[in-house]
Amino acid sequence: MRTRITLSCTECKQRNYNTTKEKKNHPDRMETKKYCPFCKRHTLHRESK
Ligand SMILES: [Zn+2]
Repeated sequence: MRTRITLSCTECKQRNYNTTKEKKNHPDRMETKKYCPFCKRHTLHRESK
């Protein structure tokens, strides 16, 4: 079952992306590099509730 999550920039804390994940594949908080329009570059984004 896929779970809806929000990805927020670890640098400016803006929530930039809504996505889903497979909870059994990623039981912990997911981290991924994505473009942040506020930082205007790629930053690390982390799953948040
Ligand atoms: Zn940012």
